[in-house]
Formats: sequence, structure tokens, C-alpha cells
Amino acid sequence: AKQAGGRQLVVFDPVMATNFQQTFELENELLHALQTQAFELYLQPQVDAQAQVRAAEVLLRWPHPTKGMISPALFIPIAEKSHLIVDLGWWVVEESLKIAQQIQNRQIMLAINISARHFRQQNFVSHLFYLLNQYQVEAQYITLEITESLVIDDIQDLVTKMQALKALGFHLSIDDFGTGYSSLAYLKRLPIHELKIDRSFIKDLPADKDAAALVEAILAVADKMQLRVVAEGVETQEQADFLNQRAQLLHQGYFFARPQSAQVWLKTWQSSMQG
Ligand code: C2E
Ligand code: CA
Ligand code: CA
Ligand code: CA
Repeated sequence: AKQAGGRQLVVFDPVMATNFQQTFELENELLHALQTQAFELYLQPQVDAQAQVRAAEVLLRWPHPTKGMISPALFIPIAEKSHLIVDLGWWVVEESLKIAQQIQNRQIMLAINISARHFRQQNFVSHLFYLLNQYQVEAQYITLEITESLVIDDIQDLVTKMQALKALGFHLSIDDFGTGYSSLAYLKRLPIHELKIDRSFIKDLPADKDAAALVEAILAVADKMQLRVVAEGVETQEQADFLNQRAQLLHQGYFFARPQSAQVWLKTWQSSMQG
């Protein structure tokens, strides 16, 4: 940084430059990883008050040859900057449907994260329906998790697509509920089935009074609107008890199960079916 007329003028920021280069490198590696099928899908169960598995969320993993396991929190935002997220998104959907095909007879639903840019594709509904038929999966076993960030732009297009998906039998979930920009009023317009309470609200339960009040408010709204609720990031018995005392909901968190390779879960569920 140089001084110019008393004002700080940033001429060259080495931190920004390395970030830029790192992003560029990661983008290329992501593309390569997609082409070589280097990604893996993990599943994290969602359980009811009796700890029975009712559903599982699909979570993307990238085992990197030199950097170890790279978190989706790091590479999804990079993929979302370009069309890459669309290709990656379809790969996730297709692989998820192969998994759903194997667990739908156990009545276990699968929740798939859908990025805003992917959802906005004109052929999103038609291609999803095409894949559903190809893999012989019933839509009622698939929940699509979308975030409130979708609501900022074209709400009419969003509503139309969601209605089409609902008519096909898919379940729709608002992910990270409460952390985004949308107002409660949007809930009324969106044909959704489920609210997913973000971990940031669950984290401080039950001691933190504000967190408890917010969670109770979300549960009350969900109850009145007859929406299913999934609590994300349940890590303790106390959190599970707090939630179970107030609503019938699904728990997803380390206290019950960590995300694990889909193959491992499939084996577990298949063997328990034979038993
Ligand atoms: P998310 O959709 O909010 O997913 C929940 C995250 O919370 C996951 O992180 C999960 O591993 C983590 N989690 C679950 N239970 C607990 C808990 O008890 N304690 C703690 N500390 N964490 C818990 P993960 O797998 O690292 O994914 C991060 C984010 O990356 C996801 O947040 C989602 O936004 C995105 N993501 C993951 N897979 C996909 C995908 O296939 N497509 C898209 N578009 N995004 C994805
Ligand atoms: Ca999610
Ligand atoms: Ca979350
Ligand atoms: Ca999310």
C-alpha cells in the first residue's frame, strides 16, 4: 500500500493476489475432479424422537490427492461462481438417485442440496423428472433443500418451479432457515414441506434464552403452517431433549450420527433389512 495525498491507496494487495490465484487453481482442479469422478457422496441420517432413521442428507466430499479431504464449505462457493456448479449439481443429483433407488423400499427419504444457480436453470424441473424416471425413483422419497438466497431474485419463477416440483411429488425444504434475507411473509407464498433450522440456532440450546426463544418461534410457525422440521447440528442429549419436548421433528447431528460414506450406510441399511 502507498500513501497518496494523505489517503491510503491500495496499489497491490498480495493477499488478494494469492486468493485469486488459489481460486483459479481450485476451479481448474474442481473441473478436473468432476471429469475424473473424484468426488464422493456422504450421507448423514435424520432421525425421529425414537432415533429411527427417516431420511438422510447427501453431503458432497472431495478427497484431494495432496490437500486431504476438502470441505464443501470451501469449494461449493467457488463452483457457484461459474457454470461448474450446474454440472456438479447434476452429478450429485444423479448419484443421489442411484442411492435413493436402493433405500426407498426402506422408506428412507433422501435430501439433496440444490444451489440457487442450478435451480435457476431453465430445464431444472424437466431434467430432474427425466432422471427420476431413468433411475426409477419415486419423487416422494426426495427432498430438495434450497436456501433463502433464491428468494432474492425472481420470486415468480421460483414459485412456478416449486409448484411444478410439488405437483410431481417432490418435497421442498428451506435450508439454513432464519439465516437468510427473506421475510416470514415469503413462507406463505412458497409451496414448501419442511423448514430446516440452521445449526447456529441449535448450537446454544438449551442454556441461551434468545436461542431458545427463536427456536420456539420457528417451531410454532412450522406447527401452524403444518411444516415438517429438521434440526441441524444436534450435538448433545440436552439439545435433543429440548427439541423433543416441544415438537415432533427430525434430528440431524453428530449426537446421532456423523456424515459417513454412502457405501457404508447402504451396507448398514441393507444388512438390517435382511435381519
Ligand atoms: P448445510 O446444507 O447446512 O449442511 C449441514 C452441514 O452441517 C454439513 O457440513 C454437516 O456435516 C454439518 N453438520 C451436521 N451435523 C453437525 C453437528 O452436529 N455439528 C457440526 N459442527 N456440524 C454438523 P458439510 O458437509 O461440511 O457441508 C457444508 C455445506 O456445504 C452444506 O451446509 C451445504 O451448504 C454445502 N453442501 C454440501 N454438499 C452439497 C451438495 O451436494 N450440493 C450443494 N449445492 N451444496 C452442498
Ligand atoms: Ca443442507
Ligand atoms: Ca446449515
Ligand atoms: Ca446450506
